[in-house]
Amino acid sequence: MTFPDWTPDDFRRHGYEVVDWIADYLARVEDLPVISRVEPGDIRAMLPPRAPEEAEPFDAVLADLDRVILPGITHWQHPGWFAYFPTGASPPSILGDLVSSGLGVVGFLWATSPAATELESQVLDWLVDLLDLPQGWKTTGPGGGVIQMSASDATHLAFVVARHRRHETPVEQMVVYASAEAHSSVVKGARVAGVRHVRPLAVDEELAIVPAAFEAAVVADLEVGRTPLAVVSTVGTTGTTAVDPVRPIGEIARRHRLWHHVDAAYAGTAMICPEFRHHQDGLELVDSYVFNPHKWMLTNFDCSAFWVADRRPLIDAMSIMPPYLRNAASESGQVIDYRDWHVPLGRRFRALKLWFVLRAYGAEAIRAMVRSHVELARGLAARLEADPRFELVAPVPFSLVTFRHVAGDRATDDLAAALNASGDVYVTPSHLDSGSFIRVSIGQRTTEARHVERLWQLIDDLAPPARSAG
Ligand SMILES: *Cc1c(COP(=O)(O)O)cnc(C)c1O
Repeated sequence: MTFPDWTPDDFRRHGYEVVDWIADYLARVEDLPVISRVEPGDIRAMLPPRAPEEAEPFDAVLADLDRVILPGITHWQHPGWFAYFPTGASPPSILGDLVSSGLGVVGFLWATSPAATELESQVLDWLVDLLDLPQGWKTTGPGGGVIQMSASDATHLAFVVARHRRHETPVEQMVVYASAEAHSSVVKGARVAGVRHVRPLAVDEELAIVPAAFEAAVVADLEVGRTPLAVVSTVGTTGTTAVDPVRPIGEIARRHRLWHHVDAAYAGTAMICPEFRHHQDGLELVDSYVFNPHKWMLTNFDCSAFWVADRRPLIDAMSIMPPYLRNAASESGQVIDYRDWHVPLGRRFRALKLWFVLRAYGAEAIRAMVRSHVELARGLAARLEADPRFELVAPVPFSLVTFRHVAGDRATDDLAAALNASGDVYVTPSHLDSGSFIRVSIGQRTTEARHVERLWQLIDDLAPPARSAG
């Protein structure tokens, strides 16, 4: 050895210790307070100012996981996690990530590890069938799927491809359209792509895009010489899981040559169950689509699945071939080189964890999980609706419940703060023009009826009567 490295046996011993540590963590996470209670700077204050010059025993490192790191962890895998959206995490996925690290390959070209590319293509083709996406999106058709780091990257990429396709047009004239309720990554992605104009579109009472408002905005921009570039339909907005009407938006987009991107970051997972697919009717009128297995499909961050209906404009926009990357397989045209499907060159073998998840659980178990979360959400929504102290803010098409206290913003904000101070649950306080509300997102792998029951008990105990001054 050229330096004092670990032997394979050192790795084996410490590896077992780490797996034991994670298994113990998963077994006890429910007993920890969901939200970390440290103050800013507390964690750094426990860390030495300089990196060690000498090797430390690994036991000391592991001990510091408990002493230093855990107090600063907010437990996304706690069954009382009702904040934001869930983070996908599961034992098979953790092990898939471990194997990816163990192999340590960087599969930017097919030739740099054929299995990394071919497994990714195959697993994303499987998902086309599992979510009933258009068959042409498979890598065996004109389209294809690729794993991106995040939905934000995918949406940014869609704009870059749309912009490249219209490269004869000055970027200053280009306009992107999305619901006023769309995720912040739309505005950010447009900004990073150099597109200055983002039109927030009017929404109806269910917070979905009004197609006529979209077309009117496009026509108004055309009249002043701008170039409508792309539109985003969100299936399951972050605020309230509102669903934009994909088909009419797609028809308008076709008429005016806009790129049509669908952001189903959270709700895409539900499409594994046929009963939710009507929410994305019209996908044959879509140019690109993203959903996050790392949200609701049991797969650890990062794993964002992105498809294009036609891969040529994507590769046109992303492919640059320097001499040192030339190789016979690429030149044969018979392989996919995923470096041409996103911005970075290097890429991790992320398909492994998705493959582990799909095989270790099977689609039926994932459907059962989705249905149980949706059922729990509907049960909670029904209780809130039946109680005169509360009103629902939006429909519950998936497993996010949004509600407020009828006494007003103060009562609603105070209730959210009191719930989160309990240590047992974590909800997200949010705000619309109509006022404050509370988001309860049910989707953590281990969340069962008893955890939602505990949440309801807390809501019931902590909420003031309906007539209390707000
Ligand atoms: C969570 C979310 C995103 C962002 O996902 P990242 O993968 O973290 O970038 C984008 N869009 C919607 C609708 C989301 O809910």
